[in-house]
Amino acid sequence: MLPLDFSPKTRRETLAQLLPQLEHFYRETDQHPVSQKWDMSRVQAHAQALSLETGNDVNSVLQQVVDGLTHEAVHSPHPGYLGLFNPRSNFASTLAELMMGIFNPQLAAWSNAPFACEIERYLIRAFGEKFGYASEEIDGTFGSGGAESNLTAVFAALNHAFPNFHKTGLSGVSQPLSIYVSAESHHSIAKAAKITGMGSQAIREVPVTATLQMDLVELERMLLADIDSGFQPLMLVGTAGTTGAGAIDPLAEMAAVARRFGMWFHVDAAYGGASIISPLTQRAFRGIEQSDSITLDAHKWFSTGMGASLFLTSKAHILHQSFGIQTAYMPPRDNEQAPVDPYVHSAQWSRRFIGLKLYLPLAIHGWEGYREVIEKQMALGNFLKQKVLNAGLKVLNFTKLPVVCFTGADMPSEEVVRDWVERINHNGKFWVSAYPVRGQWCIRACITNYNTDEAQIEAFVRLLMEVMEMDKVSC
Ligand SMILES: *Cc1c(COP(=O)(O)O)cnc(C)c1O
Repeated sequence: MLPLDFSPKTRRETLAQLLPQLEHFYRETDQHPVSQKWDMSRVQAHAQALSLETGNDVNSVLQQVVDGLTHEAVHSPHPGYLGLFNPRSNFASTLAELMMGIFNPQLAAWSNAPFACEIERYLIRAFGEKFGYASEEIDGTFGSGGAESNLTAVFAALNHAFPNFHKTGLSGVSQPLSIYVSAESHHSIAKAAKITGMGSQAIREVPVTATLQMDLVELERMLLADIDSGFQPLMLVGTAGTTGAGAIDPLAEMAAVARRFGMWFHVDAAYGGASIISPLTQRAFRGIEQSDSITLDAHKWFSTGMGASLFLTSKAHILHQSFGIQTAYMPPRDNEQAPVDPYVHSAQWSRRFIGLKLYLPLAIHGWEGYREVIEKQMALGNFLKQKVLNAGLKVLNFTKLPVVCFTGADMPSEEVVRDWVERINHNGKFWVSAYPVRGQWCIRACITNYNTDEAQIEAFVRLLMEVMEMDKVSC
């Protein structure tokens, strides 16, 4: 037997030992501190403890990794993790990871993994339809995350505006370009502007209104000023569920502006997009069906394991136009009806079956299952908001999504808020972040975990009262 193989017996024994440990962590995640203070040199020593020269005993290697992942990580699967859209990955998506590890399908070319490619296309169509795209116009691709999907959107916008962009690159562009995002948007768009060669100078951060949505009056003013000074507006980005405060931009109005100025209209719904499946929030997405493209992360509110995002577009030709390439060593595509090869539809080449992480939970629990979970989380967000208000605190954001940004009634300084956040996070039971809403620092708490319940929120508010030294206030 070659060194890279396990004997069938070792394989069975290893699985028999490892799987119960994983299941135990999954079941009792809440028994571990959500986060702790790390000692970097200790973590480094732990990570480098095993020699890579001659190899080590299987069990000691696995034990080292299980220990490190258990004790030296923030646990986003913990129900007290009220953080940054990082979910508890649902068990079905975990099974997908396991299956992908064993089958290891290669999704570069359709002919190599036809079933997997067709599952992904089935999902792309289903999601496109959920967002109101016409079936025959839908295309899309799976990628690593929202940052990649947003990069795909910026690249698609360039290729749409300049049909020869794939040949000429920026040398075929005579005017400087501009991209409009709200001041609350995610900075992966700015990164995409850098990667695509436009530079961050292309980014225009449009101020937001009192509800933290893009200010359309300002947008129009900036557009006209930019055109006056020789810029060509390339793209307008609406955010549906901002990272900081869960705001959803006025998408329908923005779609009209984009059309009027000939811009690609992209909606970054990395987090919030999941709530399109609930009638409670559907209306806020009005206009998204008019978009040219959408980013939706599965590894956020769809609670799949990390590394799963959807890029959807209603311009069915654009991915091929942008990423198309021909090589002698890949299978040829002999006619228009031939299936699409994923490698000519995204920046990736060899790639894993990302869509399986979303397919398994959807096929097992259905849209209905997801709707129930998402609505429960929204109700819990309202519960938290009410508790915080009852305690005499101030909530500074307005959103139906379960993101609550709150602070003391006396509008404390950044230093005070950061100190609260640090004390909460070092308590080990909860994890929150600090975020400035229109300049006022807040504690930001988001229901990201489908296992979080009312009892945990009540315990969180009790901890808040301690940390804020408001024990006297009843809530
Ligand atoms: C998280 C997020 C992103 C980035 O997505 P990743 O999956 O972290 O790459 C982009 N936009 C918004 C609105 C987000 O919330």
